[in-house]
Amino acid sequence: MLDRFDLLVIGGGSGGIAHARRAAEYGAKVGVIEYGPLGGTCVNVGCVPKKVMWYTASHAYHFAHAADYGFDVAVNGHDWAALKARRDSYVHRLNGIYGNNLDKSGITTIIGTASFVDAHTVAVEGVQYHADRIVIATGGRPIVPNISGADLGITSDEFFELEERPQRVLVAGSGYIAVELAGVFNGLGSETQLVVRKDSIIRSFDSMLGEQLMEAMQKDGVNINTRVTPSSVEQTDDGLILHAQDGRMFGPVDCLLWAVGRSPNVASLELGNAGVQSDDAGFIPTDDFQQTNVENIFALGDVTGRPALTPVAIAAGRRLADRLYGGMDGRHLDYKLIPTVVFSHPPIGTVGMTEDAARAEYGDAVKVYTSGFTPMYYALGDKKQRSVMKLVVAGADERVLGCHVIGEGADEMMQGFAVAMRMGATKADFDDTVAIHPSNAEELVTMR
Ligand SMILES: Cc1cc2nc3c(=O)[nH]c(=O)nc-3n(C[C@H](O)[C@H](O)[C@H](O)COP(=O)(O)OP(=O)(O)OC[C@H]3O[C@@H](n4cnc5c(N)ncnc54)[C@H](O)[C@@H]3O)c2cc1C
Repeated sequence: MLDRFDLLVIGGGSGGIAHARRAAEYGAKVGVIEYGPLGGTCVNVGCVPKKVMWYTASHAYHFAHAADYGFDVAVNGHDWAALKARRDSYVHRLNGIYGNNLDKSGITTIIGTASFVDAHTVAVEGVQYHADRIVIATGGRPIVPNISGADLGITSDEFFELEERPQRVLVAGSGYIAVELAGVFNGLGSETQLVVRKDSIIRSFDSMLGEQLMEAMQKDGVNINTRVTPSSVEQTDDGLILHAQDGRMFGPVDCLLWAVGRSPNVASLELGNAGVQSDDAGFIPTDDFQQTNVENIFALGDVTGRPALTPVAIAAGRRLADRLYGGMDGRHLDYKLIPTVVFSHPPIGTVGMTEDAARAEYGDAVKVYTSGFTPMYYALGDKKQRSVMKLVVAGADERVLGCHVIGEGADEMMQGFAVAMRMGATKADFDDTVAIHPSNAEELVTMR
């Protein structure tokens, strides 16, 4: 049997579903192929359950200040299993909503693993499907290092399966997933260690953010060890021990979590049958219009190696559908000025160029404004956490190229500033904007 579609989308995650639904709105006959739960990484093992865990840990951080505000509160523990049950049922609800939305859009959901037969044909569980266009939106998966005993550790995927909170935790990695999950464990009471390969964390962000976050996490009790290259993992009677190449040992711990990067889901796709090229790491390069090297095959989201964020995958998917099926010639995603948040404790919000990147491109034309302060939230007690902000500007008009914030409220601050920066805001525009008082965000428009 050969089912025919205008469009087949491989992957029912953030990008795939967004693209499929927008294309169907324009009248395309669409099939979405998915072997896992609908919603992909974000809904099932990413943003959504992660944010629930961030909220959970944030409660713990806030309880620490309750007495400052006159509350006589005793926290008698935390029921991780009960939280997980509620979180899982929320995720299941979302899976159902995604399925219903596909049905309502008249999209055929095909369950199983897709692999290319040729550039117009995909096989799923022995059935072949034909389409004029095929979009690859297969996302990625966590990397487990290739060292002895590595399988004794878990990844972010299995983090969401934990039925109870491990008391002693070692997180290996320095990226945003590593610091976020370390913050959750630490906030909820686990003895938490972080091991990182270099000297700093979240290195792809402005260096100020990594420095401040490291200081804040250490102050909160996370034990951060730098220059660690793992060499093996050992199971002992008292727990797991991570051995480093330089002879150091970390542990014993009850849980070792690898957060050392993600690789694209391409293994089962048989890309060669369609002539689709991937790079050495497996990512599928595309042009500005999400087109692969094969004319009728497109790729979007994490599998392309572009910023691995849900709204990026969604935006790329919708714009591609607008162009291919909605008559919007030239429409494509501009990958510059993508705002993002690290749901660490404290949170980080950032958009635009780091100071280093700006200096490399604009040299002496770059000027930096910073502000460091203790938010009013901490005024009534002794336990305080600083906020730090940085604006990177360049040129005579001091156009704002980068805006970086760590501290209370940073997560909700950046969306609006990203709009302003896309519109070309200058430092004078920031200065001319009346502050919201008392708030942390006002510091961004009062910097001198
Ligand atoms: C722990 C964690 C936290 C995160 N937090 C955030 C956050 O706070 N904010 C944010 O913006 N982003 C976050 N992300 C990133 C975000 O989840 C991804 O960028 C986003 O899901 C990418 O969407 P996608 O459509 O490219 O791929 P995915 O959502 O991964 O979807 C790909 C789908 O393809 C399916 N698939 C793969 N191969 C095949 C095949 N051969 N046949 C059929 N189906 C296949 C997979 O099962 C999957 O469902 C987080 C990720 C992780 C892991």
